[in-house]
Amino acid sequence: MRLRNVTGSREMIAESRFVVPEETLKDMPGKWQEIFGNHHPIYIEIGMGKGKFLHTMAKDHPGINYIGIEKYSTVLLRAVQKMEQEELPNLKLIRMDAEEIAEVFGQGEVARIYLNFSDPWPKDRHAKRRLPSREFLARYDHILAKDGLIEFKTDNRALFDFAVEELEPAGWKARAITYDLHADPVMMEGNVMTEYEEKFSAIGNPICKYVITRA
Ligand code: SAM
Repeated sequence: MRLRNVTGSREMIAESRFVVPEETLKDMPGKWQEIFGNHHPIYIEIGMGKGKFLHTMAKDHPGINYIGIEKYSTVLLRAVQKMEQEELPNLKLIRMDAEEIAEVFGQGEVARIYLNFSDPWPKDRHAKRRLPSREFLARYDHILAKDGLIEFKTDNRALFDFAVEELEPAGWKARAITYDLHADPVMMEGNVMTEYEEKFSAIGNPICKYVITRA
């Protein structure tokens, strides 16, 4: 998702107090709870887009610290604007490429990772860029707490099948899985729709979801 014609988005992001400055990110491993000033668990969304999901989650769960990660400042700006409209103390935003995630969070510092409607990168030679790939699972293995969870939702069946196939070789196991989330009352409990989820479920696409832990 790239939004064009947002003049000065990088500067606006850099000035926003809701966004953790890019130049400080590599000093942050082990220090995230200090940023929030409490010892609440840290949940992150990678590829947060415009941020509806995480903003709603943060509002609904004040006892959790949320961090949204997005590669493009033009997109992140929309999440910043949501915070300007309704500021939440337990939500911070980061502009970065998730490839660097293991350098930004300490070992076991994150309790939960959300991947929502990740870009599919359909060409085989780009498989390593897919956020549920084994390469990314190895990065998540470093930052995720021992009993931590990863939750992944998508309407893209090919990407989901790929993600499920990656689990065993990468040392992960599905604790829950559905190929039609909105028809699954147990997995739907507490579900917060993302922007993409609203768009694709409205045209009838079934939503796949897994919840995984280390095997
Ligand atoms: N999660 C949102 C949703 O469900 O509505 C947005 C989904 S959108 C298809 C995927 C988002 O992930 C885009 O905003 C894209 O810029 C971001 N993204 C893709 N690869 C990324 C990466 N390596 N690091 C950070 N963000 C990434």
